[in-house]
Amino acid sequence: MKKYLFIILTLLAACANTNRKAADAEWTFEDRYETVIDSVLAELTLEEKVHLLHGTGKFVSGGVERLGIPELHYTDGPNGIREELERHSWNSLNLTTDSVTFFPTGPALAATWNRELAEQYGRGIGLEARARGKDVLLGPAVNIMRTPICGRNFEYFTEDPFLNAEIAVGYVRGVQRQDVAACVKHYALNNQEEQRGSISVQINERALREIYMPVYRAVVQQADAHAMMGAYNRFRGEYLCQNDYLNNTVLKDEFGFKGIVVSDWGATHNTEKAAWGGLDVEMGTGQPYDENYMAKPLLELVKAGLVPDSLVNDKARRVLRVIYNLKKSDSTRTKGEKTSPLTRRIAYDVASEAVVLLKNQNILPLNPDTINSIAVIGTNAHKPQSRGGHTASVKAKYEISPWQGLKSKLGTEVALTFSRGYEETFMQSANSRHRIPSQTANDSLIDAAVQFARSSDVAIIFAGASRDIETEGRDRRDLTLPFGQDKLIRSVCAANPNTIVVFLAGAAYDIQSAVNLAPAVLYGWFNGSEAGRAMADILFGDVNPSGKLPFTLPKRLEDVGAHALNAYPGENGTVVYKEGLLVGYRWFDSKQIDPIYPFGHGLSYTSFEYSGPETDKSVYHSGDVIEITCAVKNTGSIEGKETVQCYVSVEESRVLRPDKALKAFDKVFIKAGETKTAKLHLPVSELAYYNDANAEWQVEPGQYTLMIGTSSRDIRGKVNVEIINSP
Ligand code: BGC
Repeated sequence: MKKYLFIILTLLAACANTNRKAADAEWTFEDRYETVIDSVLAELTLEEKVHLLHGTGKFVSGGVERLGIPELHYTDGPNGIREELERHSWNSLNLTTDSVTFFPTGPALAATWNRELAEQYGRGIGLEARARGKDVLLGPAVNIMRTPICGRNFEYFTEDPFLNAEIAVGYVRGVQRQDVAACVKHYALNNQEEQRGSISVQINERALREIYMPVYRAVVQQADAHAMMGAYNRFRGEYLCQNDYLNNTVLKDEFGFKGIVVSDWGATHNTEKAAWGGLDVEMGTGQPYDENYMAKPLLELVKAGLVPDSLVNDKARRVLRVIYNLKKSDSTRTKGEKTSPLTRRIAYDVASEAVVLLKNQNILPLNPDTINSIAVIGTNAHKPQSRGGHTASVKAKYEISPWQGLKSKLGTEVALTFSRGYEETFMQSANSRHRIPSQTANDSLIDAAVQFARSSDVAIIFAGASRDIETEGRDRRDLTLPFGQDKLIRSVCAANPNTIVVFLAGAAYDIQSAVNLAPAVLYGWFNGSEAGRAMADILFGDVNPSGKLPFTLPKRLEDVGAHALNAYPGENGTVVYKEGLLVGYRWFDSKQIDPIYPFGHGLSYTSFEYSGPETDKSVYHSGDVIEITCAVKNTGSIEGKETVQCYVSVEESRVLRPDKALKAFDKVFIKAGETKTAKLHLPVSELAYYNDANAEWQVEPGQYTLMIGTSSRDIRGKVNVEIINSP
């Protein structure tokens, strides 16, 4: 009978009428389970509670068979459900049934600047997690892009805290609506791969709160994230999986996080510190699981009176809370689907809104009726981008390459030729176990590409990186394009003035040659299973591009704050974030450094004319919301989407303020010739700065300028408002 306790209590809770969640909030924790959890906790022995707190497989944490409490099954994340591995090792099971949709990677999703698509993305990946029988998705990955060479930028979203939070909230809600817990990673300050297992981050409290923490607060308070993954590295000297300040004081007490803090795989170091330091579930330490930090050693500490029962109870309660809210034994639990028409469509929708048109001098969109031949150049035209990059690698059911996308769009209408253009060769670096991409051009491949380019109407180069270059565990060394691509681009542009350059990458590179020489340049990301179809649709105008850069494209690495101040990768085990608040465009703007393209930049095939902006009032109190409206007219001949961005600057402040900071945006769809009103909501509380003297968010009274633009450097209108102290 006891064996069925879990099921019986689940059913009772399901029938309870109290606190049923509204249909539009299926992603929240439900209060009605709390009394059920009380009864279960009363039944569990100490040993059983501890059994819930550590791995019992590489991607499984413990259940309690006696009471029918199920295990939790985890999966990577963050851009597709990872292939099935053996229970106790990293070895693949080599199944033929576990391939999935490869969703566009992090920066691609962020480049859509589309909250609804972020939620759809979460929905798609959540459905595929369910179809594969998973409970906890290890994603989204939300670390701020502090440096463009961080190896995992391709998983992360952006350099900006506001855009980060908006995208992450949608993603988490979408996942959790499918009865899957989102495990937001990597909490926190894991902004480099160099020495990631040990590096200690020193940062002032204000920059911590204003730049690095908003995303975590948002996913807790606006999306009720069920899990958070503690990072590998250290913060102010202490490992993140045992960091009392960040896990207990900030995340649990201040933000109100009710879910589980899960360690990154193998990131737990000490039982007592982890127990007190806020870790709930230890993962990835390996066998024998009973000897894991949060297994027998924890039990012994409790028995010795060094860790109180109440602490174990709290951790077990959190695990049970996740288990119950996932409706694990409930027949109403989402069944899921994979590579279904729906999940494929989501991958396509995101991919086609993600592509950023950086430059276009009247060459795009291409017209198949006026072109006879295209020279398709570059290994990336064929290269699958789903595999590689370590734990974010995806075994894609299918992946449409740019070449396939073009081929199926054009058939035999236009003659397509292919030449590789560059060769992917790697060097073994002396002090690293990783391969470093060679920067030497292959001249005979360049010559062949030039021949094709010369004899074709148009040349399209697919350059950029790959998942071998951008990867977990290793940062890049600089911004240089790999494999001599720069020379390839210069040579092809000289041979054919109608050369379009498409960069497939997850981070910033030095693309100045392309921008200077080619009439059209695009950023196309590692854009998922539907990448090639979306790219062909963009190039031929079936889709009007609407992506906007989620990070700055710098001219030189030394132009980036962390590098200008020699504050990367750190010394003697510590990296000091000397640039403080001035991350990304905040640094470039404040120091008046010109990037190749600024944060928020992205063109369309149509043109937009802004008028306004206007605010609903001119004077606001601290609890108000500023309603900003801005009329945008589509002055071209085709429909399009425009992301209207609102940056704020403070006239006079008693503290350092960035030149401007993104505080609101609205993406609007506008038919040709029509005018739409973009509506932006800006709570006055968003204007606060973090006062570390009294540990409070403070809205300074005074004049604020709201700048409305199509990028962070293309401001189309301004409006001043006054903030006054509440009476
Ligand atoms: C990564 C995590 C990942 C975990 C499990 C770690 O190496 O940092 O992001 O979820 O492995 O594969």
